[in-house]
Amino acid sequence: MKTLVINCGSSSIKYQLLTMPSSKVLAKGMVARIGDENATLSHEVEGDQLERELPVADHKAGMQIILQTLTEGDHKVVEKLSEIGAVGHRVVHGGEDFSSSVPITEEVSSAIERYADLAPLHNPPNLTGIRAAQSTLPDIPHVACFDTAFHATIPPVAYTYALPTELYEKYGVRRYGFHGTSHRYVAQRAAAILGIRDNDFNGITCHLGNGCSATAVRGGKSVDTSMGLTPLPGLVMGTRSGDIDPAILFFLESKGYDLAALNKLCNKQSGLLGVSGVSNDLRTLSEAASQGNQQAQLAIDIFAYRVKQYIGSYAAVLGRLDAVVFTGGIGENSAEVRASSCEELDLLGIHIDAQRNQSVGGPYAEIQASDSKVKVLVVATNEELAIAHDTFNVAQELTKR
Ligand code: AMP
Repeated sequence: MKTLVINCGSSSIKYQLLTMPSSKVLAKGMVARIGDENATLSHEVEGDQLERELPVADHKAGMQIILQTLTEGDHKVVEKLSEIGAVGHRVVHGGEDFSSSVPITEEVSSAIERYADLAPLHNPPNLTGIRAAQSTLPDIPHVACFDTAFHATIPPVAYTYALPTELYEKYGVRRYGFHGTSHRYVAQRAAAILGIRDNDFNGITCHLGNGCSATAVRGGKSVDTSMGLTPLPGLVMGTRSGDIDPAILFFLESKGYDLAALNKLCNKQSGLLGVSGVSNDLRTLSEAASQGNQQAQLAIDIFAYRVKQYIGSYAAVLGRLDAVVFTGGIGENSAEVRASSCEELDLLGIHIDAQRNQSVGGPYAEIQASDSKVKVLVVATNEELAIAHDTFNVAQELTKR
């Protein structure tokens, strides 16, 4: 079955068309700058790239362009739209309602709309994408895959903030966690690589990209994660602060910062960018640090130190640890960050082999030293594939009904 995976942002639609269950990628691409006269389409088929500039009025027009590109012209990969059997949609916030991927009904759409309150930057464009895709492909199943779903198993002791209980009861203020599709995918991959059954796997998954989070996985289930009500807390990120003393915000308010300025400060001006004053991109920072920029080096050091703190904290939560797993643009590519995050963790039985750490390549690698009790893995994440699998499975279930 050909399965279309959609990841819709406020002005972009990323897509991948895969044949399932073989997982073959037929085409992938992105429509960017939606709403602009000079929007762009990038489309790739087996390494062959198509780049176009064109006006794209809205998400529905963007979807139509994607479907046209998949079915017409030199870069087409299907003869007719009816060959596409299902569409999987990435949705950021599913609140407490969803612990797995589900067929999108009116009720599901309403829930996504309701949780826009908790994810104002993500859920509205996710829903716009769903509506645009449903109106262009009305006769096939559409499936919602939530970033929060994998974390539905986190127990109250880990998701409850020590705030008055009425805030949870009235407004749903609790830890939800994000990047769930990635954490679940790499945890399952790690279990398979180690020859452990999914539900026997205990590990710490570190998704380190522009956004970063760590998850404690016990018996294949998320039992704690570093992001919270929103994707702001936890690890240091490209432009997000991660954990800070919340009273800093009250202090800054007394210095004249208003809410909008504080929001921008924590989400857009902090993290690697804020500390270094150079960039949110680790490659640029490494380059600057190698040329003697001390703030760039400090930003990298803080980043790795925080990862290490979370590894220690989650090792304590889990008790038994099979593996630490690194993924995401930084986790998969930065030997320096992996090495610093695991430095002097012999206490926990974690010991990286420097040579193996330097020569990582391919979809996965084991980088622990031979005397390390805990495995240390680098696993390339693939959220689109995970969404395609879920979508295929949900669509198969629907045909059985
Ligand atoms: P992501 O959001 O997963 O695409 O990750 C983006 C982050 O990964 C950026 O900070 C990049 O600098 C970093 N990154 C990507 N490739 C490399 C690389 N080869 N070495 C170090 N960092 C990298």
